[in-house]
Amino acid sequence: MDTIAASTPTTASSVSSVSRQPSSSSVSSVADQNKSLPAGAPTSTLFEIRHTPNAGRAVFAARDIDEETLIWRSDDLTLSVLLREYRREVCGQCFGYDYGRDLDTRDKTVGFAFCSKDCQEKWKQENGSIGIEAWTAVETLVKKRSKEDSEMVDADQARPRKKEITQVWESVAAQAALIRVARQGEQQSSEGDGGAVQVTKQHKKALQKALLQKISPDVMSFCVSGLVWRYHHPDEWERVLALAVDSTPYHSSDDLCAFTRTYLHLLAILPLPLLPHVTADTLFLLSSRDSHNSFGIRSLEDGGSEFFGYGCWPAASYFNHSCGPNIEKKRTGRIWEFRAARDIEKGEELCITYLSGEERKLSRGKRMLTLKRNWGFECACERCEPRP
Ligand SMILES: [Zn+2]
Ligand SMILES: [Zn+2]
Repeated sequence: MDTIAASTPTTASSVSSVSRQPSSSSVSSVADQNKSLPAGAPTSTLFEIRHTPNAGRAVFAARDIDEETLIWRSDDLTLSVLLREYRREVCGQCFGYDYGRDLDTRDKTVGFAFCSKDCQEKWKQENGSIGIEAWTAVETLVKKRSKEDSEMVDADQARPRKKEITQVWESVAAQAALIRVARQGEQQSSEGDGGAVQVTKQHKKALQKALLQKISPDVMSFCVSGLVWRYHHPDEWERVLALAVDSTPYHSSDDLCAFTRTYLHLLAILPLPLLPHVTADTLFLLSSRDSHNSFGIRSLEDGGSEFFGYGCWPAASYFNHSCGPNIEKKRTGRIWEFRAARDIEKGEELCITYLSGEERKLSRGKRMLTLKRNWGFECACERCEPRP
């Protein structure tokens, strides 16, 4: 399918078109830098974004920075996934958590719980009536089916390559087209101008067949969150497009198939105004951008031992990784704050760590394996490859 092919490495043009600044020596003014920055990149007088030969874009100190200085605040959450098993304990809006106690404010229609009426109101505002309709449709489907779906065990499967990804998405294209027609028929009958599209048994069957397939609630949440966000923020889509691309974002063949099945499910159930966005292209694109750019949403107490889900804050993803980071990141509600973990000199790269609390204590070999597996790079930070 050419939609997928087109969205794989080619849309990365938005990334590679970033001017390739030669590192440290010749630095142009901040104003010049900002002109060539991709949409959604963070800007500050404290740092500048430059292209590096080996690690893509990176953030460098533009002056000496004192320990504990607030470097950046990211309030640009685009999509987020709150794992199904945490839905009753973690606030759907601010990700607040009360040591595993069920939250008081529950909205069973949309399948989220909130720490307060205020958070519930904010959530409703952000999702709008279309978003509420979408989450209600998903919740209805998941509730009907939840008992039969078990967790997928796919640790041993290989990561699908580009060719397999294209083939699997192509394999559902015909059924998707039939479902789309069935849904268009729905629209016509509600508008009372029947006739333009002929909906036959074949179309309706394709839709029914999709609904009988196994569901993957967390994959569905990921897709719906991204689709609703795109629907409400058409002008900010560029920020997602500008993120570093992973052209093989699926962990396994099972994971890939969960996405193509979810595509058909969503075509069958989402409110009609969202359907133009429900395309293989958009769903692939969300995975390809999210893969290396998402931040885990963990408990704030107890050293982050509980993993509630993850989200994409485009500006925050410009910070590269180091196993001995000079920037500490901390989440407050839906906002990430980045502070200097020590005094930093002008010209130093500003790095956070992508490792979780426990992972930071691993040996060099195990750290490198973890980073390679989860983030797809060989770590060459000072701690992994000390310079003489
Ligand atoms: Zn809350
Ligand atoms: Zn390292």
